[in-house]
Order: sequence, then structure tokens, then C-alpha cells
Amino acid sequence: MDFRLSEEQTLLRDLARDLTERLIRPQAARIEAEHRVPRELIDALAEAGLMGVAIPAEYGGAGMGETGLCLVMEELTRGDFATAVTYGAHASIGAMSVVVGGTEEQKRRFLPDMASGRLLGAYALSEASAGSDPAAMRTTAVRDGSGWVLNGEKVWITNGDMADLITVYAITDARLGAKGGVTAFLVPRDSAGFSVGKREEKMGQRGSSTVTLAFEDVRLGDEYRLGEVGQGFRIAMGTLDRGRLALGANCLGCAREAHSLSVAYAQQRVAFGKPLGEHQAIQWMLADSALEIYAMESLIYRTAHLCDTHQPFSRESAMVKLYCSEALDRIVDRAVQIHGGMGYSAEFVVEKLYRDARVTRIYEGTSEIQRMVIARDVLRNGH
Ligand SMILES: Cc1cc2nc3c(=O)[nH]c(=O)nc-3n(C[C@H](O)[C@H](O)[C@H](O)COP(=O)(O)OP(=O)(O)OC[C@H]3O[C@@H](n4cnc5c(N)ncnc54)[C@H](O)[C@@H]3O)c2cc1C
Repeated sequence: MDFRLSEEQTLLRDLARDLTERLIRPQAARIEAEHRVPRELIDALAEAGLMGVAIPAEYGGAGMGETGLCLVMEELTRGDFATAVTYGAHASIGAMSVVVGGTEEQKRRFLPDMASGRLLGAYALSEASAGSDPAAMRTTAVRDGSGWVLNGEKVWITNGDMADLITVYAITDARLGAKGGVTAFLVPRDSAGFSVGKREEKMGQRGSSTVTLAFEDVRLGDEYRLGEVGQGFRIAMGTLDRGRLALGANCLGCAREAHSLSVAYAQQRVAFGKPLGEHQAIQWMLADSALEIYAMESLIYRTAHLCDTHQPFSRESAMVKLYCSEALDRIVDRAVQIHGGMGYSAEFVVEKLYRDARVTRIYEGTSEIQRMVIARDVLRNGH
């Protein structure tokens, strides 16, 4: 397979890189301190045409597929993880719910505005007692005349307080369980009965907002039902296949940043009369990180190619998520170690990267859940 970027992909990556260096990196410390990604920053990404990178061109997007989205995610994360996550909750799992599950009419109605950034998206699956096991959700949608009435609460929703259109998954037939009993809905933020609750105080990615959402007798017309009744779980999982891939690219961007800071520090900091990089123990750490970054890159772009060429990629995207998040954890840990005491100081960026990285093993399915997904597929296929 040819891993070289096309001219269009190179231009896209360079655009994201330029925005990161000019707008995101200089604001990263402020975003962390103020616990907020400025709306103007999201508007700048929208103006550059990045909000609909993976939305097909016929619906107003850039049509650059998951490969394009991964390239952008990787670059933005180098500047600030929280900004990239805010972007991703829209451009990846927010908009992709509509791409994966929407009817032709819904795609024509919502995707152009999502691509332009006029509508920001979010993805609401998790509940207080239904995280790893979303089939245990309690949010319900009951038919009411020609429409629906939604009741329940979602937790840990990234962008839940900023989004204009939230994909919400609800039980429509409790007897059928996950397969057939769950339906997806698009909930506009101005719906009566919808409210935003507590904002989480987090270990890392502090600029990204993570909130609780409540739905109290929220009335929706049937045109806000996403896809078919009972197909919600399929849409949720199909969206997560793409989300996990893009999340791998977040991990890669963060890993590259931690690694390049470590290389620079190892070349400049002297111990026992020579630069750290001349000590074999440090060299081995740098070699292991370089190897893992290469493996991450290979897994991500090979899997993005599978997705963009319409081949199955569920198992592979679980592998991307599992490997990239766990490799990132090792890489940021080495970065702190190589920086010694300074790696533990909030004055040095690696301290923030270490905190930002930790949640990647948890959200969009924990490492344990990814192993379950992979193992099920292995046993089903006998290899
Ligand atoms: C910062 C952040 C942002 C998030 N953003 C979103 C969002 O935008 N939208 C959304 O819907 N959700 C979001 N989430 C929720 C996230 O997807 C869940 O936290 C995650 O799926 C884990 O669920 P849980 O927290 O309920 O953990 P639990 O399900 O309670 O799991 C606890 C532990 O038990 C393990 N475990 C559970 N079941 C098994 C099993 N069968 N076998 C082995 N081990 C098991 C888990 O791996 C984990 O280690 C976000 C979470 C965070 C922290």
C-alpha cells in the first residue's frame, strides 16, 4: 500500500499545521488555565473549512474522508489536546453520527451547516449507570402522535454545553435490548425540556467541556429521529468505529509532541558531563518511543484507508484505539522521566501532556472494552 500523501492531503495537513502553530499553540496554556476553548478558535477552524473534513462533498463537506480527519486531528492535538477534542466531538463523533445513520433528507438538511460550523455537534450515549455497557441505558423515547417524547440523563458529554445539535440515543423498545430496542435522535439545543447540568473538573484536557445533559419531556418531531427505529445501537457503534480511529490520531499528535520535546531536552540537558542523549538508558527510551510512534502512524493510516475504501474496519479501529492510547501512555511517561524533576513541573509542557493523555484509555470505550471487541471478532473469524 502507498502511504504517501496526495497533494490535496498534504495541503490539508499543512493548513491544519499552520493554524495550530499560529492560533492554537500560543493559546494552549490559557485554554488550560481558563478551562475553556475560545469560541473564536472554533470559528477560525470553521473559516478554514475544517469542520466538515470527513463530510462527503455532496453534503457540503471537504470530502477528505477519515484519512483527512486523522491528518487534521493529529496536527491540532500537537498544539492543544483540549482544542482537538472540542473539534473532534463535532467533526468526528458529532457529524459522523449523521453521516453513518442519517436518511438522505437528514444529510441534506443538517450536514451542510455542520460542515460550515454553523451547527456544532455532540454525541450523547453514556449514562451514569451505562458507560462500558451502553445497552443498560435508561433514557427513553416514547411515541406521541407523529413525534416522540424524550426523558433521561446523559453524562460525560463532550461539547454538550456548546453543541447546537446533539445525537442522543434512547430506548424505544425495552423488550428488544440493544439490538432493535435503541433509536437515535437529533436534539436541537433550544428544545423545551433540554438542560445542561454539571461540568466535570478533569485531570487533563481541561479546556474541553464535559457536561451532564437532562431531557425532561423533550418533544421531537419524527424528522429528528436519526435513521430507522431500532437502529440506534448500530448507528452508535458505527460512529464509534470512526471516532476511535480519529482518537488514535489525537494520540499520535500528542505522542509526537511529547517525543520531540524529549529529544530536544535529551540533547540539551547535561548529566555526568555529557548530554542525556549520550546515556544509553535515555537512548533506549527515545528509540522505544520512535518505534511506537511509527507503529501508531502505520495502524491509523492503514485503517483510515480501509474506512475510506468502504472495507470493514471495526476490529481494526478498536486495535487503533487500544494500541495508540496505551502507546501514548508509555510515551508521555518516558517524556516525564527524561525531563526528570522538570517533567513534574507545571512550567513544562510534558506535565500537561501526561495528564491530557490518561483519559484516552478510557473514553470512546476503555482498553478492556477494545480488547473485548477484538477478541469477539477473533473468535468469530477463527483468526
Ligand atoms: C473526558 C471524557 C469525555 C467523554 N465524552 C463522552 C461523549 O462525548 N459522549 C459519550 O457518550 N460519552 C463520553 N464519555 C464517557 C466514556 O465513553 C465512558 O466514561 C467510558 O465508556 C467508560 O464508561 P464508565 O466511565 O461508565 O466506566 P465503567 O463502565 O463503570 O467501567 C469501569 C471499569 O470497569 C471496566 N469494565 C467494565 N465492563 C467490563 C467488562 N465487561 N470486562 C472487563 N472490564 C470491564 C472498564 O474497562 C473500566 O476499567 C466521556 C468520558 C470522559 C472521561
